[in-house]
Amino acid sequence: CGIVGYVGSRSSVDVLVNGLRRLEYRGYDSAGVAVVDDEGSVRSRKRAGRLQVLATDLAEDSLPEGRTGIGHTRWATHGGPTDGNAHPHLGDDGKLALIHNGIIENFAALKAELVSQGFVFQSETDTEVAAVLLGREFQRTRELRAAMLATVAHLHGAFTLLAVHADQPGLVVGARRNSPLVIGLGEHENFLGSDVAAFVEYTRNALAIGQDQMVAITADTVEVFDFDGTPVEATPFEVAWDA
Ligand code: GLU
Repeated sequence: CGIVGYVGSRSSVDVLVNGLRRLEYRGYDSAGVAVVDDEGSVRSRKRAGRLQVLATDLAEDSLPEGRTGIGHTRWATHGGPTDGNAHPHLGDDGKLALIHNGIIENFAALKAELVSQGFVFQSETDTEVAAVLLGREFQRTRELRAAMLATVAHLHGAFTLLAVHADQPGLVVGARRNSPLVIGLGEHENFLGSDVAAFVEYTRNALAIGQDQMVAITADTVEVFDFDGTPVEATPFEVAWDA
């Protein structure tokens, strides 16, 4: 439903929760965040209910000060609104985290294939097949961009996907088909959002991402590709916003 990604020098949990709060008008049933901490492991927290449930939980028991992170508010389509079905989903080995807006139409067939290969699922969501596939492709490619390209080739339907991986701290990768995703450009920090509202508090310089395109952001770089891996020129725009 709502999606935020961040790489920079701020505490990413704060940026993510602020961004999700700005996206709150959309309506949702669960919320979650994942950060890559300075030791290079992925830490996640997710809760059914309003964003405030997650925010209170994080205030009582904080996550490490990761500089890289992703955040999500969910409007459940497959699997009820529970903590376990909330995003992020962590993949098979817990080294990656992935969030998703939309519906993966062919998830049942993909899930059956992955289960037959021995992969274990923790949730009833369509989303988790993308997380498990991404983990499988990362094992093969050892590179998150390449793994995401290989993953989206299997997916039908509508998706905005964002992912982080413990072995590549400082990188957030995203992909979009039939679902929105925009880039926010900062000074030594960059943002992703399902809507400019996610980052308008930090920057008004944005880049549009086209249909069937992928993005990789670090604190100082932004790369946009199509689903063949060919680099594309993204269209800059300035966010007009009466805050
Ligand atoms: N289909 C996914 C789920 O049910 C994502 C829903 C959304 O867009 O929030 O978990």
